[in-house]
This record gives sequence, structure tokens and C-alpha cells, in this order.
Amino acid sequence: MKYILILLLFTASAFAQPKPAFKVIPLGVYGGADESNLSCYMLAPTGSSNYICLDAGTVHAGIEKAIANHVFNVDVTTVLKKYIKGYCISHPHLDHVAGMIINSPEDTAKNVYGLPYTLNTLRDYYFTWKNWANFGSEGDKPVLNKYHYTPLIPGTETPLDNTEMTVTAFVLSHGNPYQSTAYLVKHNGSYMLYLGDTGADEVEKANNLQLLWQQVAPLIKAKTLKAIMIEVSFPNEQPEKSLFGHLTPHLLMNEMKALSTLTGTEAMKGFPIVITHIKPSGSHEADIKKQLAAANTLGIKLVYPHQGHLLEF
Ligand SMILES: [Zn+2]
Ligand SMILES: [Zn+2]
Repeated sequence: MKYILILLLFTASAFAQPKPAFKVIPLGVYGGADESNLSCYMLAPTGSSNYICLDAGTVHAGIEKAIANHVFNVDVTTVLKKYIKGYCISHPHLDHVAGMIINSPEDTAKNVYGLPYTLNTLRDYYFTWKNWANFGSEGDKPVLNKYHYTPLIPGTETPLDNTEMTVTAFVLSHGNPYQSTAYLVKHNGSYMLYLGDTGADEVEKANNLQLLWQQVAPLIKAKTLKAIMIEVSFPNEQPEKSLFGHLTPHLLMNEMKALSTLTGTEAMKGFPIVITHIKPSGSHEADIKKQLAAANTLGIKLVYPHQGHLLEF
């Protein structure tokens, strides 16, 4: 009888834990300083090798790390050329695009997705013949046409070519008036939300995050949103005038509270929030982790990504 009970409990818990819908392989996790480890996250549905890169600050060094950790059992070239089907760039700051630009000569043809703000900056300031070579599909002649600029319309779902996923972009404010982007990626009724660099609504004098929370709150309640990836760049001690469109633990938790008023607090308990883009100078990383833990009255699940280590949601 005892064994049957244990078996029943075991079976019930197996059913209570649904299979992960997405895998995330961070190729870079920081927001500065270490050029071998800057914002870039490979994302694919479980069981697929058709990835999209969310930002592309570091590419090659991160793939090498992932191979060393046995996340991939193919070589760097195969991951770069065959597994990565496109790049979703949140904004054109160097810590989000440098890896893509440096690897462009070795890369295969693929789409680069972004808001016109981002793609126009890539076209006019990075993929030019003075700066590099024009691997883009527009701009400085001759156009090599390897990276096909694919502009997204905010709020409109768009297929991610050669993957099983779609994406919807939302505008973020990153040091008003500079823009950034949030990407809501969908596969088979499950979602992941990735935010590029962003300030808090109260600091940016904007409502971009509030509008985004209104979009995703129903998905959290329905348990179809699997995780949110969002930045915390500085510890709380950073003066507001020196935030440059970034979040601190205090500001993130304020935003999470705003989100929880839409979802109810119960839905936020144990919900995974992946903390990205820490600027790792001095004791910042340890300070940010301590401050987030201390302010986590909602009981969200704080996840710290590591370069080349698989995450599943
Ligand atoms: Zn950044
Ligand atoms: Zn930035």
C-alpha cells in the first residue's frame, strides 16, 4: 500500500511538472566590460535545433563555452552557420551587436529582425564600407546581401524564418528618446519574453513597460508565458541621473509589482525572471543579487544565466 502511494505521488508530481517548452543557451550575459561575455541568448523550442539569437553582443566565444559544456556536440561553425537562423536585435548599442558584426564574414545568409530604429542604425553606421563591409541588404554600395534586414511592426506577430517560432516586438524606452525592443516569442501556444535594455517607466517618463505588462499579464495567468528575461544593470546606489536607461533591483521590483497588480500575486509566485545585462564592475554583481533577494516579496524565481549553460523553461 505504502509503495502504491509513493508511486501515485511520484506519478502525480511527474504530471505536475510539464515538459519545458523552450531552451535558452546564453552566449553572453553581461552588459559591459567583458567583451567575451555580452548580451546574446540562443532560443529554440525544446527538441529543435532552429535557434534565434536574442541580441548578439558575443557570439563565437559563447558558442565555444557551450561546446566545452557539452550543450552542443557539433563544432562552432555548425552552430553559427546552421543552428542560428536569425538575429533579433533589441537596439544598436555595441554590447548587443558586436558579436554579429565580427562574425559576419564567416556567417551564412540570415534575417536580422528589429524595429526600423535599430535596422537603420545597423545600415547607416555599422554595415558600411568605411566601418566594416556591408553585409546588409540595404545601404552603402555594393550591398553584399548576407544579412536581410527584416523590419518588425510593433504589436504584429511575424514568423521567424526557418524556425518553428513567431515573434512580436514591443517598443521600450532606453534613456528617452532612445529606443529598445522587447521580443515576445511564441511556439505552439507557449511564450518567452525577452527585453532589451530598458529604463523604468517612472524614470523614463514613459508607459512602455506598463503597456507591455498589459500584453503579457493574461499569458502569465494562463501559464503560457514560461519566463521573462529582463535587465538589471546597476545596484540601487546608482544615482538616477547616471542610470542611462537601465534598471536597478529596486526599479525592477517596482515594475514586477506593477505587473503583479495585473496578474494577481499568486501567479507571480515562483514565476521565472531571468536577470540579464549586469554591468560587472567592482562588487556590482554580488550587490545586485543581494538587493534583488532582499526585495523579492513577491516570491518570483530569480534566475541568473551563465555563459554556455543551458536553461530550460
Ligand atoms: Zn546594453
Ligand atoms: Zn543599451
